[in-house]
Amino acid sequence: MPQYTPPLRDMQFVMLEVLKVTDEFKALPKHAEVDADTINAVLEEAGKFAAEVTFPLNISGDTEGCKLDLATHEVTPPKGFKEAYAQYVAGGWAALSCDPEYGGQGLPFVLNQCLYEMLNSANQAWTMYPGLSHGAYEALHAHGTDDQKKTYLPKLVSGEWTGTMCLTEPHCGTDLGLLRTKAEPQPDGSYKLTGNKIFISAGEHDMAANIVHLVLARLPDAPQGSKGISLFVVPKFNVKPDGSLGERNGIFCSGLEHKMGIHGNATAQIVMDGASGSLVGQPNKGLAAMFVMMNAARLGVGNQSLGLTEVAFQNALAYAKDRIQMRSLSGVKAKDKPADPIIVHPDVRKMLLTAKAYAEGGRALAIYCTMLLDKEIHHPDEKVRKDAGEIVALLTPIVKAFLTDNGHIATNACMQVFGGHGFIKEWGMEQFVRDNRINMIYEGTNTVQSLDLLGRKVLGNNGATLKKFGKIIAALIAEEGVNEKMAEFINPLAYLADQMTKFTTELGFKGFQNPDEVGAAAVDYLRVAGHLVFGYFWARMAQTALREIAAGNTDPFYLAKVQTARFYFAKLFPETATLMRTARSGSKALMDTDAALA
Ligand SMILES: Cc1cc2nc3c(=O)[nH]c(=O)nc-3n(C[C@H](O)[C@H](O)[C@H](O)COP(=O)(O)OP(=O)(O)OC[C@H]3O[C@@H](n4cnc5c(N)ncnc54)[C@H](O)[C@@H]3O)c2cc1C
Repeated sequence: MPQYTPPLRDMQFVMLEVLKVTDEFKALPKHAEVDADTINAVLEEAGKFAAEVTFPLNISGDTEGCKLDLATHEVTPPKGFKEAYAQYVAGGWAALSCDPEYGGQGLPFVLNQCLYEMLNSANQAWTMYPGLSHGAYEALHAHGTDDQKKTYLPKLVSGEWTGTMCLTEPHCGTDLGLLRTKAEPQPDGSYKLTGNKIFISAGEHDMAANIVHLVLARLPDAPQGSKGISLFVVPKFNVKPDGSLGERNGIFCSGLEHKMGIHGNATAQIVMDGASGSLVGQPNKGLAAMFVMMNAARLGVGNQSLGLTEVAFQNALAYAKDRIQMRSLSGVKAKDKPADPIIVHPDVRKMLLTAKAYAEGGRALAIYCTMLLDKEIHHPDEKVRKDAGEIVALLTPIVKAFLTDNGHIATNACMQVFGGHGFIKEWGMEQFVRDNRINMIYEGTNTVQSLDLLGRKVLGNNGATLKKFGKIIAALIAEEGVNEKMAEFINPLAYLADQMTKFTTELGFKGFQNPDEVGAAAVDYLRVAGHLVFGYFWARMAQTALREIAAGNTDPFYLAKVQTARFYFAKLFPETATLMRTARSGSKALMDTDAALA
């Protein structure tokens, strides 16, 4: 059976020692009082909830899956899920970083980020039920009418109701411009929705009293394509003016997908047959409104893989210390045993350190992004808010795609540490690999994320936001450039930062002549950008750790951090050279292949 220990020490290191979030909060009037004690207390309780309540349901949820009663259209999630959700609601976890105006606790997003990392490590399938609610809350908070906010936000904040996002249809996934669900205006100002959605996560269940579906659909005279899409809120049970639940709405689950992983989450086929809904935001501007939810979900999906990377690492490390096979190449290490523990073998260490470096680098990046979200919303200076928002927008596709690709690499590496036992269900490792796989696909595939990064976020504004982030990196390089102890981290980072400008300009120039050049280079480009960002955070973490060591701190945590940074720069970061080479090799080898793909 797998184990999970919440990585509280590492979260505290990133938040309090590297990013110094409590200093940042002092500039945000709403969070000025949030201190280290508050942060530590919340993390500890959140960790207990994840480890003690949802983690024990991870394997049983995977084995049991969800059941649909076709007569009633009701879905029953695996045993224990409903009770765990009730505990989550009772504990006030749904409200942690929500607006106090709607019953939220108003704590910083960074705390919600850490709560969700731990929930994802413990049980990704369960975590998707409350996770989607948070995105629905954000979309309605940003674009809902006063009436919609009054009706839905307090219930989403308390967790009494959950949310979904209904975009995908059988013929339309990446290309939402193809969607066909119709919304007919009614004399009372409401709309009747008709159509089919598929793959809707947490789309039906009995864990909450109501489900708030956010649905993309077309108005009767809407323009073709993505310019004719509107957003609607469609509850499972209609809500009466006094807020109590009315009759069942015409939105039903008609089937559940049988899938590779996240079996405990209900992936629902949804039929709307004259379902009653109300418009969110402006007609035909639904995609813009839905993007609030989609951006939150993209950061959330990166966080899912961060959680799985961490839990896979913890289990592989414990196994590698215990399992004995063969002797070390450099001489016997465990004289009292018939063989050495496999952790003595260089390649086993490489697999373990890969997962550790990707987990800790991902944690630093994810916490940094949510700290920027706190600034974007609460900082009194408009310029700081704008800059923070722009950098989060730049980093969002990197969090989504780089962390989930790394999760794939890391969970596979950790499964490999177990040898054949990793392939056997009993150890739980193959579930981490299976559960992670969807993270690279949904919420916009990782290819789509790479096109968003290179095409829209970088070339789309002539690299202006990338340059802003480049200045943040340059400040660290200027600060540590003459520190010999930092040279092994700063030199490769400075080299890549310098290369990145030329590399981007070159791709932009080629893309201008032939757009397929952007499509051919984007996936490699995102991975290079991911390493640039990780390189920055690993250098900052090494800087903090080296300073502690120089000050006489003998806590092995700091030495471990420096060693992991060294591993990261020596063994993972150099793949950027190959990636830049393949990106530069252009589109011809892909597009001039009609005979090969005939
Ligand atoms: C378990 C699960 C849960 C999900 N949950 C939800 C949910 O809650 N709500 C929801 O609305 N949807 C959900 N989805 C749907 C998911 O977001 C889509 O599957 C995903 O966006 C891809 O769409 P598609 O499957 O139609 O693939 P397609 O769009 O058909 O893409 C097929 C392939 O073509 C590539 N491709 C497409 N266009 C381009 C392009 N322009 N350039 C390069 N490559 C391209 C894609 O990257 C992909 O590799 C879920 C899916 C699954 C499997």
